[in-house]
Amino acid sequence: MRASRRVLVSGGAGFIGSHLCELLLAEGHEVLCVDNYFTGWRRNIEHLVNKPRFELMRHDVTFPLYVEVDDIFNLACPASPIHYQHDPVQTLKTSVHGAINMLGLAKRTRAKIFQASTSEVYGDPTVHPQPESYWGHVNPLGIRACYDEGKRAAETLFFDYHRQHKVRIKVARIFNTYGPRMHPNDGRVVSNFIVQALTNTDISIYGDGNQTRSFCYVTDLLDGFMKLMATGDDFIGPVNLGNPVEFTIRQLAELVIELTDSKSKLISLPLPADDPRQRQPDITLARSALQWEPKVALRDGLKETIDYFRKLLAS
Ligand code: NAD
Ligand code: UDP
Repeated sequence: MRASRRVLVSGGAGFIGSHLCELLLAEGHEVLCVDNYFTGWRRNIEHLVNKPRFELMRHDVTFPLYVEVDDIFNLACPASPIHYQHDPVQTLKTSVHGAINMLGLAKRTRAKIFQASTSEVYGDPTVHPQPESYWGHVNPLGIRACYDEGKRAAETLFFDYHRQHKVRIKVARIFNTYGPRMHPNDGRVVSNFIVQALTNTDISIYGDGNQTRSFCYVTDLLDGFMKLMATGDDFIGPVNLGNPVEFTIRQLAELVIELTDSKSKLISLPLPADDPRQRQPDITLARSALQWEPKVALRDGLKETIDYFRKLLAS
């Protein structure tokens, strides 16, 4: 991106959003962080609030917003199953009304707009690994639908605003991402396992633990965001951003126990409905169009994340 742009980050007080705000400031941009603190934490951006080019606004993206910006990153949406299922109607509103409001803002200001979409648009995939051309296998009525279908509708809105109003869009489909500043109680597998291991409590494996995920470290993901945002107007995505190295959930648990030197035991709990059996991004497009691929191995990223949670739990 050009130096010194005015960049809006919706969901900027969340896990990924806070790292993005930090990176944009470091690159010399002005950052307007917009968040309603549903799953975000003021603590995540506390170190930024006194910086002269940083502005923080409590705002819910389901309501219109009138500001002047050059670029928008639309990240506002709860991302962990327990949080997005807590108030499913609000989750859908956040994805759909939030996209309409952010796209309307982009249309008026002629800003370039990035959408944080998700591998959940592929649902419980029947194609493996998942390329962008795969239309997905989503249960539209299930407990994950408020998130999956909300994000799918948001993608539709992005493409329609692009075709109908010439809005400059960039759509990334993010696969499971982890790192410092994940919420300790958000119920996602990496944060759950680390907190359980550090407190020597049982590690909660849902189902048989043979389901797979591919885990991307947050700095790798942000490198992908920046490369995507820097592409010319003819490249709009969607593009998968994720780490293609696939692990079973049981392997993840064993690695976390090893790295924390924990006494925790693995226990089996019921598998939630519609939990995808396998997930791995096909990143051929990201490699060719963005010259991007992840660099941080799971073991190394987990060490940083464990360090973060160790300090958090101590405080
Ligand atoms: P997060 O829950 O930490 O961050 C989401 C942020 O959005 C929070 O700060 C929350 O308070 C805010 N928010 C929620 N509803 C809002 C609303 N109506 N108005 C304003 N702010 C609102 O989650 P994250 O992991 O940082 O995810 C960020 C984005 O990336 C989300 O859109 C998520 O769907 C997407 N994503 C994340 C992952 C992942 O593995 N972390 C994977 C795929 C997609
Ligand atoms: N999972 C688990 N134990 C936990 C939390 C999650 O076994 O304490 C499993 C979950 O059932 C899923 C995988 O880990 O198969 C990833 O779950 P997460 O909620 O992190 O992300 P998503 O399912 O959205 O990919």
